[in-house]
Amino acid sequence: MGSDFASSRRAVTLAEEEPDLYAAVGVHPHEAAGVVPRMWEGLRLLAGRKRVVAWGEIGLDFHYNFSPPDVQDAVFRKQLELARECRLPVIVHDREAHKETMAILSEFPGLNGVVLHCFSGGMEMAEECLARGYYLGIGGTLTYPKNNLLREILRTAPLDRLLLETDCPYLAPQPWRGKRNEPAYLTAVVETIAEIKGTVPEEVAAATAANARRFFNLVA
Ligand SMILES: [Zn+2]
Repeated sequence: MGSDFASSRRAVTLAEEEPDLYAAVGVHPHEAAGVVPRMWEGLRLLAGRKRVVAWGEIGLDFHYNFSPPDVQDAVFRKQLELARECRLPVIVHDREAHKETMAILSEFPGLNGVVLHCFSGGMEMAEECLARGYYLGIGGTLTYPKNNLLREILRTAPLDRLLLETDCPYLAPQPWRGKRNEPAYLTAVVETIAEIKGTVPEEVAAATAANARRFFNLVA
């Protein structure tokens, strides 16, 4: 996952070296203030590389506001345009900016897929996302004792619209909370979803893997 131009380039290089990895390119809202116009052409070129399967993380973060909100807004829109042009799905970061994120996304029909990563909205927003055909990104926060809301949302959200994520190094699931996250810890998320859905972890794993292949257009 890229968060600015330099990290996007590093992500692509890594994905070209490691057969198990794919990359996403983009400018995170935290880094929006550092954008210079010539970066867009560079990102567009990177986006065309074979191992790049998405544009992200992009979006809005009004919790930290490391970049001014109006700059975040402009950089988000610009990248939705580019992603649509490049026919890539988008990975959206939305922190304390639910209303604005949903409003901007609604102005960009014809995107090649949208996932709200580390979904943190309420029930109503989840329903709106599903109605629009978006995916919900689910990770360690699902296992946190206080997060009944997300577990409640997952009771009704269909299994075929969930994407699993680590958000590494952040948000390790409950038994490892506070440590550096890693893919192996996803078992705790899978088990929690299985419990909520009244099924076995294997079914959740198979369904979410198929979702990822579909969303990112991966060759099976
Ligand atoms: Zn994020």
